[in-house]
Amino acid sequence: MPLTVNVRLLESGPTRIAGELAVDDFAADFTDPLVRFVSPMSYDIEVQRNGPDLAVTGKLSITLGCTCARCLKEFRSELGIPRFAALATFTGEEAVPKDGDIADLTPLLREDIFLGLPANPLCRPDCRGLARKAKARDSHLGVQPSDGSSPWGALDRLKL
Ligand SMILES: [Zn+2]
Repeated sequence: MPLTVNVRLLESGPTRIAGELAVDDFAADFTDPLVRFVSPMSYDIEVQRNGPDLAVTGKLSITLGCTCARCLKEFRSELGIPRFAALATFTGEEAVPKDGDIADLTPLLREDIFLGLPANPLCRPDCRGLARKAKARDSHLGVQPSDGSSPWGALDRLKL
């Protein structure tokens, strides 16, 4: 079930909604080699009218299953957005879906959760990875300091 609100009912005042969004309802097509969603998204939000828009504030959280980008260890991580705030508009490119009086807020929550995902998950901040690979990487970068590719490209080649 997507997260929907009845816009007409909001005319009498703000409403608070708490619950869970199944992964299939907001991230069915999400794939990432290092990050997976291993719990539903929990939300506790307040929705109120803001002119023609809806102001949505509250908190979101979800459990991630991650693979450390340095040592490949599997670990879990809580992604929390304690001060979620977004504006749902019904016109333009950022418009949220609306069917009659029923607005679907799922894309708003999805966007902030996706923005909060770690691009480079680490099992701990000072993870040194696999020692021998780290050495190989340093010498590799030393030999080819300016071959025009990004450092990430060099890292990717080393993973082979
Ligand atoms: Zn690690």
